Amino acid sequence: MARTGTQVRIDRLLERVGITRFVRMVDAKPITYRRATCTASGAHEDLRFPSDAAPEMVIKAFEQKGWEISQRTKCPACAKPKRASRAESHPEQNVVTLRQEPENMKQNTAQKPAEAVREPTLDEAAAIVKKLDECFEDGRYLDGGSDRKVGETLGLPWALVAKVREKFRGPIKEDPAVVSLRADIDRVEATVKELLKEEMKGLRERLAKLEAA
Ligand SMILES: [Zn+2]
Repeated sequence: MARTGTQVRIDRLLERVGITRFVRMVDAKPITYRRATCTASGAHEDLRFPSDAAPEMVIKAFEQKGWEISQRTKCPACAKPKRASRAESHPEQNVVTLRQEPENMKQNTAQKPAEAVREPTLDEAAAIVKKLDECFEDGRYLDGGSDRKVGETLGLPWALVAKVREKFRGPIKEDPAVVSLRADIDRVEATVKELLKEEMKGLRERLAKLEAA
């Protein structure tokens, strides 16, 4: 079974975090597995995936099993002791904490509509409501939208967006599980982006060498 360019690229990305791909025949059918290998103990675990599984999905699945997926991937046994002191030992997790803050701030604002925020002008309110009608439905933002993203799109403070949303379209009805899952997705996305960046750097270097030759 030939793999597409995208699949080869995904394989290479995942190899950078110690996850390899192999195919095993199960009931005479080829089944794709991914194997995570611990950089500390050499322990490994295999999980089944659709052959076109996105790297985010693969990383997330191993993380759910307790693996710590990074350039120094660790099995659940080796990852555990470090978790206690995550703040010092895991700079990338510090970043995660920072990334979650706006999310929490947004929630707080949603709970007690900010009195401190100035009143929007009519034009601003109209622009915000128009934008909300594209991306806010039944108390939920669609496609990972947020007050912050609407604010960024319109060049307005997100607190102002929150205020207008509260007034004209109501509060966000999002359960905490969804909020936490979104934070997880953000984090995995950041890992994948980091990997892609390195991959691109490698490709550019190769190109530069070819051009210089
Ligand atoms: Zn280990």
